[in-house]
Amino acid sequence: MTTDETAPDPARPIKVAILGSGPSGIYAVQSLLKQEAFPVEVDIYDRLPTPYGLVRYGVAPDHPNIKSVVGVLQRVLESPGVRFFGCVEFGRDVTRTDFEEFYDAVIYATGASVDRALGIPGESLPGSYPATEFVAWYSGHPDAEQPFPLDAESVVVVGVGNVAVDVARMLAKTPADLAHTDVPPAIFDALSASRVRDVYIVGRRGPEHAKFTTKELRELGELVNASVHLLPDEAAVVGDAQHGKIVRANLGVLAKWLEVEQAQKPRRIWLRFWLRPDEIIGTERVEGLRCERTKLDDEGAVVGTGEYETLPAQVVLRAVGYRSLPLPDVPFDAVRGVVVNDAGRVLEEDGSAAPGEYVAGWLKRGPTGVIGTNKSDAAETVRALVEDIVASGAAQRPAPPSIDDELQARGIEPVDYAGWLRIDAEELARGASEGRERSKIADWDTLRSVSGRS
Ligand code: NAP
Repeated sequence: MTTDETAPDPARPIKVAILGSGPSGIYAVQSLLKQEAFPVEVDIYDRLPTPYGLVRYGVAPDHPNIKSVVGVLQRVLESPGVRFFGCVEFGRDVTRTDFEEFYDAVIYATGASVDRALGIPGESLPGSYPATEFVAWYSGHPDAEQPFPLDAESVVVVGVGNVAVDVARMLAKTPADLAHTDVPPAIFDALSASRVRDVYIVGRRGPEHAKFTTKELRELGELVNASVHLLPDEAAVVGDAQHGKIVRANLGVLAKWLEVEQAQKPRRIWLRFWLRPDEIIGTERVEGLRCERTKLDDEGAVVGTGEYETLPAQVVLRAVGYRSLPLPDVPFDAVRGVVVNDAGRVLEEDGSAAPGEYVAGWLKRGPTGVIGTNKSDAAETVRALVEDIVASGAAQRPAPPSIDDELQARGIEPVDYAGWLRIDAEELARGASEGRERSKIADWDTLRSVSGRS
């Protein structure tokens, strides 16, 4: 093959579909636009009429600094050659075969949208919910059940990661703290009317094993209306194990809180450790969480001590990590909860790479890391894609047909980027009339009609 034959043809851009418009999908688009091996055209699909995935529906409303990454993501969506296809569901409206027919490559980036279960008795009692459901509710997700039953005085949050800290903080905040956030009015009213007094955050291991980050932990101690309480026997770390930077900083925050007895405020956050959930107690509904006390054995493994404690609660929220859902027809490792892949290349059951298919983000590596982690993750996937496209000589073959006519023939009417901008503008206008920056629309009918879709 001569150099001329392999040179990219500028008139023949490589067509890539991205499934999922959260940070991982949009960072993948950014990487595709930055690479110089060939020109690209990117269609980014989402089940929702709104882009930004977990930035819109996972980052807590009182964390505007984290949400400000939207500015970067928006610039990517507005780049020439990029189109948004909202309200299109994979497996129903478009399939793996469609992506094969209408694109040179696809990147799956649907994240991890569902909860993990504890697998203990009582988990299905009314009052026991995944934290993901509570997060979706306060984030105004259109699939969230309304209203969230927030009638408890005492709530247990299981897990000591950042999601647990987010939900505990949201439960402990006052209406004044939330007045400037983007939570929809009905949800703001429900949070304002909450009678919660005690929030228990429960770790099954010690504070040195907690997954939260220091900034998030520290914030709990800065709440106007809530005090943080620890039990010295649980929170003081014994032993001389070497810890990493984040753990050392976390332990420093806990040590400061332990030094001075905290005056009790109207709401109290109890950070409890060494308690392994054993059973959610209750007959008609949740009445408490029974936990077995744990300790480290001589090998450093966490073991039960046979001692039990029941934390009183009318609501138990499990914040024990997210889980990805398999995509129809796409190879999935049900144990690890990820699409089977090698550095982003989707692998078939026999271990061979599925031509033109890639994966990025939580669906590729599992639900870990912060938003920024998805940037390097997506870059790795795009490097594999570019390498493969160049090696396959795709640019020298005719372009795949456009999907637009096919979608129309199927009666599928995507919400395009202009449709999302109409939703965006309406939310900003509602916010302005309520004296805040944005007021989210939380129901499907209004989202659809405001977007201009019937
Ligand atoms: P996570 O960080 O993995 O924490 C999960 C927690 O659940 C851990 O404490 C884990 O304990 C515990 N757990 C798991 N299974 C359990 C069980 N059966 N019983 C009791 N406890 C159990 O997950 P996450 O909080 O959902 O967060 C997901 C990712 O999003 C993380 O990377 C997080 O940092 C990120 N995030 C970031 C922010 C932020 O930056 N502000 C906000 C929210 C989320 P073990 O360690 O013992 O397994």
